[in-house]
Amino acid sequence: MEKKPFATREKLEEIAKEYPTPFHLYDEKGIRENARALKEAFSWNPGFKEYFAVKATPNPFILKILQDMGCGTDCSSETELMLSKACGFTGHDIMFSSNDTPPEEFKMADELGAIINLDDFTHIACVEKVLDTFPETMSCRFNPGGLFRISNDIMDNPGDSKYGMTEEQLTEAFRILKDKGVKHFGIHAFLASNTVTNEYYPLLAKILFELAVRVKNAAGVHIAFINLSGGIGIPYRPDQEPNDIRVIGDGVRKVYEEVLVPAGMGDVAIFTELGRFMLGPYGALVTRAIHEKHTYKEYIGVDACAVNLMRPAMYGAYHHITVMGKENAPCDHKYDVTGSLCENNDKFAVDRMLPEIQMGDLLFIHDTGAHGFSMGYNYNGKLRSAELLLQEDGSVRMIRRAETPKDYFATFDFCGLLKDVE
Ligand SMILES: *Cc1c(COP(=O)(O)O)cnc(C)c1O
Repeated sequence: MEKKPFATREKLEEIAKEYPTPFHLYDEKGIRENARALKEAFSWNPGFKEYFAVKATPNPFILKILQDMGCGTDCSSETELMLSKACGFTGHDIMFSSNDTPPEEFKMADELGAIINLDDFTHIACVEKVLDTFPETMSCRFNPGGLFRISNDIMDNPGDSKYGMTEEQLTEAFRILKDKGVKHFGIHAFLASNTVTNEYYPLLAKILFELAVRVKNAAGVHIAFINLSGGIGIPYRPDQEPNDIRVIGDGVRKVYEEVLVPAGMGDVAIFTELGRFMLGPYGALVTRAIHEKHTYKEYIGVDACAVNLMRPAMYGAYHHITVMGKENAPCDHKYDVTGSLCENNDKFAVDRMLPEIQMGDLLFIHDTGAHGFSMGYNYNGKLRSAELLLQEDGSVRMIRRAETPKDYFATFDFCGLLKDVE
């Protein structure tokens, strides 16, 4: 599949006149259409709800769009809870799926009325210490151990992951929580990340639905929801076949009817905590070529760097690049596209075949809408860029300003040094 930018070169140049590159640009129309498709795909389940994983794109304007589309938020830290609260998410619209949780954060989540999803058995005692009473609804995170396979492919290694409880622990946790007054229970698991196959969710659903039936019988509890969490991926590479959310929703429905309905559990709600799938394709990092360098390789230096998008440097992740205005030109030049950090892994692309790039060309780095800006950092004293929203009517709205040196030095505000930095 050809990857097409969601904005034209003319539009990007117009935006760049007001907001200098680099910047992250989000496509409101794409975000809304995709959220609608997800909702549609699970409309067979009356209790269905998507809790957007805030860490993927922690911007209040984005959260407001998703709220308007019927989504809640999935949080795992104090500031993510604060952000949700500020956006008007309350009560069961917030899922608190944290791990290694500071006890005060359980308290904060409880005060907001959020659903607390316990990562570990020992957290029951921790919650008991900080809360006066247990909430009526609680969830526990499951880890089946071993390797997680789809057909013969190893998708991930849950046995090596820090998250979740064993089945024995989860069953015992439900018994104890029930004694302490919890009435409605949820089960959560996240077994593989960025899956580009329609089989992941149905397979995970089967594991969790069968577990739910066993746990319901063993602990005598009401299972109110199953949380399939995140993990539905996106095709970062142009040759990857995208997931079909309708096929995925239908696959989960089949397993639901096979496992839960016959067990008298046809009232169980399905929850998701998608991040990447909700936002990934609907954001891009827009940057300009500012240097070319010809040594042992051909380099194009751009005005963005790994602090704006860490995935290529951190995971060697592929992000497709379109040279704006040259969409139909032959990709007959091999480049490393680099940022300016004093780190040799600061490369958005290595040995990438692209059209010939001239200084001043705009590069559209695709699929940065999730885990893009949010993984940013300040190494080398580099500053975070602005985030902009391309609205449905074609106008552009700034939804986060770019950092200034003053922001970078703000944590020295306890002393007089650097106070005059502008
Ligand atoms: C990161 C995370 C998600 C979202 O993952 P994606 O890969 O972005 O879909 C959901 N739930 C939890 C608990 C997470 O840690």
